[in-house]
Amino acid sequence: MTKKITIAIDGFSSTGKSTIAKQLAKQLGYIYVDTGAMYRAVTLYAMQQNYISETHFNTDDLISDLSNISLSFGFNEEMGFAEMFLNKKNVEKEIRTLEVSKLVSKISTISEVRKKLVSEQQEMGKNKGVVMDGRDIGTVVFPNAELKLFMTASADKRAKRRYKELIDRGDKVNYEEILQNVEERDRIDSTREDSPLILADDAIEFDNSNMGLKDQFNRIMSLVNTAIE
Ligand code: C5P
Repeated sequence: MTKKITIAIDGFSSTGKSTIAKQLAKQLGYIYVDTGAMYRAVTLYAMQQNYISETHFNTDDLISDLSNISLSFGFNEEMGFAEMFLNKKNVEKEIRTLEVSKLVSKISTISEVRKKLVSEQQEMGKNKGVVMDGRDIGTVVFPNAELKLFMTASADKRAKRRYKELIDRGDKVNYEEILQNVEERDRIDSTREDSPLILADDAIEFDNSNMGLKDQFNRIMSLVNTAIE
């Protein structure tokens, strides 16, 4: 029998981490956890409570309200993936807007937020058989993961992918604004003090700027097969 492992996928914004993570989870019968969705849901909550906007940020009020934030995933059979629920409400669509993307990296710098989410993520993955994507999965959440991947791609390629995603779902956005957001999030995520996005020593780096999805999937599956043997 093959053993169950933990697969950690980290990397920059819009590198296709979740697409590959979903495919792997499906193929292996593993749980998929999108940790970015959790940081996005906390950001949405902070926006709704007026703790954060483009002009102000009240960290203390958010921190003292953290115990009132309940996050969960609910599997959508039709779509074939899990959706994010914030205090029992499906917020999958709301958390993907550019407004949330613009504020999420600020929220993610708060250590108290990270502590809460990391412990929930560790709980979700405690029995292995999990594919988790984010920024600190191989370094902080599961430093002992059997397989760690680190995804990169040029900022232009990533912004184009993100732009297409948002346009396809009907959002009114412009490409320059998306590119700026992708670069700004990379900067904040890689330079924050608590759990910055860094390449773990034992992670395998994948630059998929010029790699098709199928090719990428096949290469990663062969790494998985070696890891579960
Ligand atoms: O993966 P996604 O782009 O949806 O993540 C949104 C943001 O959440 C990131 O830009 C980062 O600020 C934060 N994040 C994080 N740690 C994770 C996952 C996401 O700080 N493990």
